[in-house]
Amino acid sequence: MGLATRVEADARAEAKLFSGFVRLHVLYHASRSPIFGWGMIEELRRHGYRLSPGTLYPLLQGLEQAGFLRSERKFAHGRFRRLYRATTAGRRALRRARRQIRELFGELFDERP
Ligand SMILES: [Zn+2]
Repeated sequence: MGLATRVEADARAEAKLFSGFVRLHVLYHASRSPIFGWGMIEELRRHGYRLSPGTLYPLLQGLEQAGFLRSERKFAHGRFRRLYRATTAGRRALRRARRQIRELFGELFDERP
C-alpha cells in the first residue's frame, strides 16, 4: 500500500470509529436549536472533524430515518435551507448516550473513585 493510500485508509477507518461521536454531536446541537448542514459542518470542523457535505447529508438523513431528527425546508436569506431538529426519540437517545459517555469518560480518564 502506498503512503497516500495508507493515509486515506487510516483516515477512513478513523472516520468510521468516530462516526458515533459525530452523530451524537449533531443530535446534541439539534436538541438545542435547529441546525442546517453547512452550519453543522463548520461546527464539527471547530471540534476537529472534517466532514464533506457528501458525508454529512447522508448522516443527517440517516438520523431522520431513524426518527431522531425531523427536518423542514425553510426559506431564509434568499434561499431554501433544510433545518433539522431533534425529536422526542432523539432527545431520549441523547440522554441514554450521555450516561454511556460519562461511563466511558470515567474509564478512559480513570476518574473513578
Ligand atoms: Zn459542538
